[in-house]
Amino acid sequence: MAENMEKGGISVQTEHIFPIIKRWLYSDKEIFLRELVSNASDAITKYRRLVSLNQAQDDGKTPRIDVIVDKQNKTLTVADNGIGMSSDEIKKYINQIALSGALEFIQKYEDQKNDAGIIGHFGLGFYSAFMVADTVDINTKSFVESEKPAFWTCSEAGEFSMGDGDKQDRGTQVVLHVNDDEQEFLDATKIKEILTKYCSFMPIEIYFTEVGKEPEKNEDGTEKPIQPINDTNPLWQKSPSECKEEDYKDFYKKLFNDFREPLFQVHINADYPLNFKGIIYFPRLMHEYENLEGQIKLYYNQVFVADNIKEVIPEYLMMLKGVLDCPELPLNVSRSYLQNNGYVSKISSHIIKKIADKLVSLFNGERENYEKFWDDIKPFIEYGCMKDRKFYDRVKDIILFKTTEGKYITRSEYFEGDAKDKIYYATDKVQQNRYINLLKNQNITVVMLDAVIDQQFITFLEKEAETKFVRVDSEVDSALKSDGEIVENEVLKDFFKKSLGKDDMEVKCEMLKDETIPAVITLSEQQRRFADMMRMYSRSNGGVEMPPMPTDEKLVINMANPLIKKIEGMLSDADLKLKAEKFAKQVYMLAVLSQRSLTVDEMNDFVNASQDILLNS
Ligand code: ADP
Repeated sequence: MAENMEKGGISVQTEHIFPIIKRWLYSDKEIFLRELVSNASDAITKYRRLVSLNQAQDDGKTPRIDVIVDKQNKTLTVADNGIGMSSDEIKKYINQIALSGALEFIQKYEDQKNDAGIIGHFGLGFYSAFMVADTVDINTKSFVESEKPAFWTCSEAGEFSMGDGDKQDRGTQVVLHVNDDEQEFLDATKIKEILTKYCSFMPIEIYFTEVGKEPEKNEDGTEKPIQPINDTNPLWQKSPSECKEEDYKDFYKKLFNDFREPLFQVHINADYPLNFKGIIYFPRLMHEYENLEGQIKLYYNQVFVADNIKEVIPEYLMMLKGVLDCPELPLNVSRSYLQNNGYVSKISSHIIKKIADKLVSLFNGERENYEKFWDDIKPFIEYGCMKDRKFYDRVKDIILFKTTEGKYITRSEYFEGDAKDKIYYATDKVQQNRYINLLKNQNITVVMLDAVIDQQFITFLEKEAETKFVRVDSEVDSALKSDGEIVENEVLKDFFKKSLGKDDMEVKCEMLKDETIPAVITLSEQQRRFADMMRMYSRSNGGVEMPPMPTDEKLVINMANPLIKKIEGMLSDADLKLKAEKFAKQVYMLAVLSQRSLTVDEMNDFVNASQDILLNS
């Protein structure tokens, strides 16, 4: 192939490359600009290195990259004042290495470009210019004084020609003659948008100009100096000790176009052997049910690659926002390779460790703030624990529960003091108010677990931490009962069952400390959870309604309550039996009301029965 190239012909292999590049990666055409600007940046870095090694003379020029749009001539130019190339180097690097690189790339990925793909299509390099151009020129002058400037041009038909050039200064100019079909790449707004996306943090200053556009003027008529489009020293590259809280917040707002401030952040600066940097922010949630989709931007030596790459970043981290710069990542490989890559799993466990450390230090050192953040960070922590055993181990003791009174306590704080063996929780503060109060009056703390994820999370904790959770309405705690009195009353129990027409219902008599409540309904925790799960499942399966699950409602009658005592007294008088039946039904309905919503029929019956009782009183 080398022989063919030098003669300026097209080898059998290469003749197909241009049409393929053109059709290739259709949706990601814009990456050509990232590739060219990266090459420019590399060329400048190489020159600087030679200067620092005393192998090149420093001519004092400030390193810069220019991106120039010329609509009239239909060109887009990327120019740098880097190392430059001699004509021999063009032959070697552009005609051979770059071309065979692009060929290799395409051969390797052509069969998997639709599914697996390549992250950000790294590695396509110089020839990606042909995605938008029908002809590409190179004007270049090597840093080596004695080398003549060189010119190279190549059409999409694959024919190139070379000759002497006229470039006087060190560096390279790549000129794209933009295809008629791709005129959008001559649009200044579009180009600026692409530069902002991929190049905002590249290490060399990048200037954008539009030929023919009047320069912006100051009030006194002088020209405004053009500003680079990028920040060459982004915050993540600095050492955390150099960064102030304000800097982190400003950076976040700029990066994510978000007016809200993040809660806090973790700045990661991992040295050898991991060698990656990043800032991970905990965003503030607008409201409880906000979509928890975050955004982790992946960079490669300050060049943007893509957002939310699930092969590199653990799924639950994607609920957060931030940047990661991983120069060691082999990005020009397939996604499945990355997924099984040891380095990738090492960086994710490092990130997880850092995040857990930060949470623990907030908990230990700034408990008040930690509590303030809790509602926002809770979904992340719960999800993270369930997804990653190591994360759970690190944070298990700093998981908070919010009590019905709005206090935040850990599991061990919940169990402190008395010998409780389970955590009481409520899922609806209003609906379950009666039960909450019953427990509260006996100094039993109830925690709120009202988010969808909570149910899964407590099941997880029960398994992992051997902590039992019971909803307030699932049983009558022994602490609520008066001591030592056996109060079973078969006659009364049967009477309730008959009056309610519910022969199968379990009825129990108890002597509760709280005399004001005639009866409560309890539901077995296990059965209720199962029913909830089935409901969730049916909802997530297209909302197919499940037949109602049998729930074993249990009616607990409070023998200490005056109304129950009254009903009991009425049973011996046949004339009062009908009335007692109505009372029993009403007692049941009142108990149901504080446990769940009534069905339409129940509601009708309840309203009618209430009127009836009032009329006859
Ligand atoms: P890569 O950048 O991955 O090496 P490319 O196909 O983009 O692959 O480029 C191939 C080679 O061409 C580079 O390694 C470099 O030697 C040379 N090259 C490309 N662009 C420039 C440039 N702007 N200045 C100097 N050399 C360049």
